[in-house]
Amino acid sequence: MHITAIQGDITEQRVDAVVNAANSSLLGGGGVDGAIHRRGGSEILEACKQLRASEYTEGLSVGQAVATTAGELPARWVIHTVGPTYSASRGRSDLLASCYRESLRVADSLPATSVAFPAVSTGVYSYPVDEAAGVAARAVREAETGVELVRFVLFDERTYRAFAAELGQR
Ligand code: ADP
Repeated sequence: MHITAIQGDITEQRVDAVVNAANSSLLGGGGVDGAIHRRGGSEILEACKQLRASEYTEGLSVGQAVATTAGELPARWVIHTVGPTYSASRGRSDLLASCYRESLRVADSLPATSVAFPAVSTGVYSYPVDEAAGVAARAVREAETGVELVRFVLFDERTYRAFAAELGQR
């Protein structure tokens, strides 16, 4: 598997699937979630509402992942995952690792072979960036998956540097 980090906007990525740092409601929020719904159009929200009305009446649990259409984004699918909030889950890096692992498992089921990830939980959910980068890199490296390309797409330079360092990229 090829793993890389870039600084950029995840809504512009031409990959099979982009991952959304969603919240349990699946009904949209701020940050990367807001950007994905804004750029992807109403089709994504409609698909999320259908999931809430069928398999996910209680919402999506922390560490789980589920796919929808990518609407008007250049990707084919959006994989929604719910990261842990740092304050509520100090020491639960397993939940953050699960987001990456489960997203790759969903990617395999689609099947998607190229996947772009944001830095899940490092925004509103306050996970320290260096710690989150370590968890993300390890989870992806250790995943048993058919995904061939993983691209971490980091919005700001500080987060990009943390991921690039973790991947040994300069
Ligand atoms: P969470 O609630 O999981 O913390 P956020 O969306 O608040 O999710 O933040 C996760 C990360 O996504 C942050 O580093 C934030 O800067 C970043 N981000 C926000 N918008 C985008 C975007 N368009 N593309 C990539 N990353 C983004």
